Amino acid sequence: MVRETAVGAAGEIRPGAAPEKAPGTVPEPVPDPVADPVAGAAPEAAARVSRARARSVPSAAEGRRAASRNGELPAVERVRPGLWSIPVPVPIDSLRYVLVYALELPDGVAIVDAGWDSDEAYTALCDGLAAAGFAVSDVRAVLVTHVHPDHYGLAGRVRERSGAWIGVHPADADLVRNRRVQDAEDPEARVKELLRRDRELLERCGAPQEVITEAVNLAGMMRRFAAPARPDVLIEDGDRPVLPGWDLRAIWTPGHSPGHLCFVSESRRVLLTGDHVLPRITPIVSVHPQSPPNPLADYLDSLAKVRAAGAAAGVTEVLPAHEYRFRDLAARVDHLMAHHTERLAEIEAAVAAAGGAACWEIASRLTWSRPWESIPSFLRRMANNETLAHLVWLESRGRVRRVPGRPDLWYPAG
Ligand SMILES: [Zn+2]
Ligand SMILES: [Zn+2]
Repeated sequence: MVRETAVGAAGEIRPGAAPEKAPGTVPEPVPDPVADPVAGAAPEAAARVSRARARSVPSAAEGRRAASRNGELPAVERVRPGLWSIPVPVPIDSLRYVLVYALELPDGVAIVDAGWDSDEAYTALCDGLAAAGFAVSDVRAVLVTHVHPDHYGLAGRVRERSGAWIGVHPADADLVRNRRVQDAEDPEARVKELLRRDRELLERCGAPQEVITEAVNLAGMMRRFAAPARPDVLIEDGDRPVLPGWDLRAIWTPGHSPGHLCFVSESRRVLLTGDHVLPRITPIVSVHPQSPPNPLADYLDSLAKVRAAGAAAGVTEVLPAHEYRFRDLAARVDHLMAHHTERLAEIEAAVAAAGGAACWEIASRLTWSRPWESIPSFLRRMANNETLAHLVWLESRGRVRRVPGRPDLWYPAG
């Protein structure tokens, strides 16, 4: 059900750090509805996108960037011999599409990510595969970078039509298990326990009572109905999925999602980065009830990891899951790291200025892309959870300290 509500208005604003998160960047769906204010957006018509027109020759980089900026769905492209990029629409205005990569195999095709679970997305995926010379029934494998609905949503439908296996990292497989409350011995008790944790997180952040009530009610609705497809194969760090003709190697890059995977091919000198490294957007890294304790530390470590892996493999092009492909991995990673360094400094300063404040209040004092008062509450929750990820990181480095309570209060160190 997340897929039906995580749309629309969310894309219009971004409570992101202003300089890095350019206007129109993405409040992306995350697997947990309470952690994800986008999931609270009212249902709206899906973004209208024109169908990708297939072309077998790559378009110029500038053309791709322009398409990415001006709202068109880019063309299906052959990125390398045997490797295709298929834009699949996402009903979030600022995201617009996810790039599914199709890898030709001797007996069919493998795809990396599947797209949003909608008829429109499914049609775009089928058309894209057709442009590459395949039917959806030819799909042998669905490798998933992470289980957010824009990447994982269609995996189950593709498997139904093709018998493909679905592969994810074990940590994201745990998220799927967590969301399939129907599989629990006592589903209602399981929902209640999840909602208790959702509420506790917001209370410890000092969120206003009406925000907590709204979030928990919404999460309750979603948790009862969300049932993402069960994965078939677990892909661990360093694994080489069985794909004849390919030397793809998985790199575990937790942070944006605990089980996020990138895939590198030395022979093609490409790195598929999912949402871990995007050319303009800063991926959301937030604390939520199902996240690891310090996701920002994980994310920054994963940035360093993928930078080194890219250099070691002689990667010449990065193939991200949104926006457009680009060349300079190291520069982009450095930029993302610098962004978080600045944001951490801003948050540390806000803690010092407040002298004992809850996360929600600290978040309200930060620079966002629009005034805090005009940010809808579901996006404030996302901003809060992102702020919390930074506070937890600062605490882990001894730069701020937390006095536990309801809410937890944050103070300068020492
Ligand atoms: Zn994502
Ligand atoms: Zn995404």
